[in-house]
Amino acid sequence: MSRMQGEFNCCQRVRSVRLVCRQTTSSALKGAIQLGIGYTVGNLSSKPERDVLMQDFYVVESIFFPSEGSNLTPAHHYPDFRFKTYAPVAFRYFRELFGIRPDDYLYSLCNEPLIELSNPGASGSIFYLTRDDEFILKTVMHKEAEFLQKLLPGYYMNLNQNPRTLLPKFFGLYCVQSGGKNIRIVVMNNVLPRIVRMHLKFDLKGSTCKRRASKKEREKSKPTFKDLDFMQDVQDGLLLDVDTYNALVKTLQRDCLVLESFKIMDYSLLLGVHNLDQAEREQQMEGSQSSSDEKRPAAQRALYSTAMESIQGGAACGGSIDTEDTMGGIPAVSGKGERLLLFIGIIDILQSYRLIKKLEHTWKALVHDGDTVSVHRPNFYADRFFRFMSSTILRLQVIKSNFEEEKKTMLSELLDSTQF
Ligand code: ATP
Repeated sequence: MSRMQGEFNCCQRVRSVRLVCRQTTSSALKGAIQLGIGYTVGNLSSKPERDVLMQDFYVVESIFFPSEGSNLTPAHHYPDFRFKTYAPVAFRYFRELFGIRPDDYLYSLCNEPLIELSNPGASGSIFYLTRDDEFILKTVMHKEAEFLQKLLPGYYMNLNQNPRTLLPKFFGLYCVQSGGKNIRIVVMNNVLPRIVRMHLKFDLKGSTCKRRASKKEREKSKPTFKDLDFMQDVQDGLLLDVDTYNALVKTLQRDCLVLESFKIMDYSLLLGVHNLDQAEREQQMEGSQSSSDEKRPAAQRALYSTAMESIQGGAACGGSIDTEDTMGGIPAVSGKGERLLLFIGIIDILQSYRLIKKLEHTWKALVHDGDTVSVHRPNFYADRFFRFMSSTILRLQVIKSNFEEEKKTMLSELLDSTQF
């Protein structure tokens, strides 16, 4: 064997060992999460329902899972681990507020294998999705978990005042400790159900500095585009009727104010666009595939946290109002008049405006125009984000409403002129 060939084989081996390691770590992590959540939710059910108290936000429950099992925990095939649950009673309250029953939460997270999303973000976080599309799990850094804990009382206050929100819905915060490592996981709502084909996907910040999807990203089968891509490719924006536009923009405005008050920035609007007309064309081309393939199973509807519910108060106000046809998406129209459904949520909010961010801004502002970099003062960030979303991305369907008005006027004039 040549030296080169030997090195190649060696590299291949290292790569496959790494892959096996990663897969093993990932499957051990998934297993630990499922065992841990199963235990903690079960344990909670024995505690009586009561109002959330201030001290509930600071509670951390911890349980050891030896692989041979204990009188509290089952035996398992993973290395020993400790599972921590942050603020269990407070999160139970949040889940209840969002209409999620303990049994459904348990079933979604613990009964089916979790699906790992391949390489979605730049931060190196691992993302898992529950098989039923309901929940997304993200590994977060120590600072982010700490920040979420501090945020909880304010988050609670905000949810009570304003259930209409596109902010992430946090359902749980956990930590798996194993082999001297701490892996913190946050459970949130999944904004983009896999069951709905997203024809376009954007991660928008309202900044134009370096906000274009990379060549590598564009080559993916389902790329996530950015602000500059939207401005170039969707020049007419997404058109909404007046009521939907007002509800959505009002929700965004309130959310921005809340984020600013928490000194949060660098968040994104995650936007998935399902083009109903394109889907119909695709279906015709694909032939026999039934359109019902893309509809959510009825059993999931009651607890699904949808974009439409987020702007109308849905589950949190005690009722789901979206229909079968919209699949929880927000109806809109493209500049060409094609019927769209929008799937929207604000993501990545666990960034506080710390010293490091300030330094990053000062440095970037020297290199670029200070107003276009995405790392900014929270009030400026919120203002720019809101303006961009409510004018460049989302727009009023003025022409259609004018046309309807004109039609009404013409009709009444016609009736007037034809009165006997
Ligand atoms: P970055 O550092 O690039 O901001 P990150 O690792 O912090 O990335 P996020 O920005 O939170 O990760 O998310 C990265 C991607 O993961 C998003 O563009 C989106 O495709 C997916 N994602 C994140 N949160 C959700 C969610 N709640 N629902 C559906 N998809 C999500």
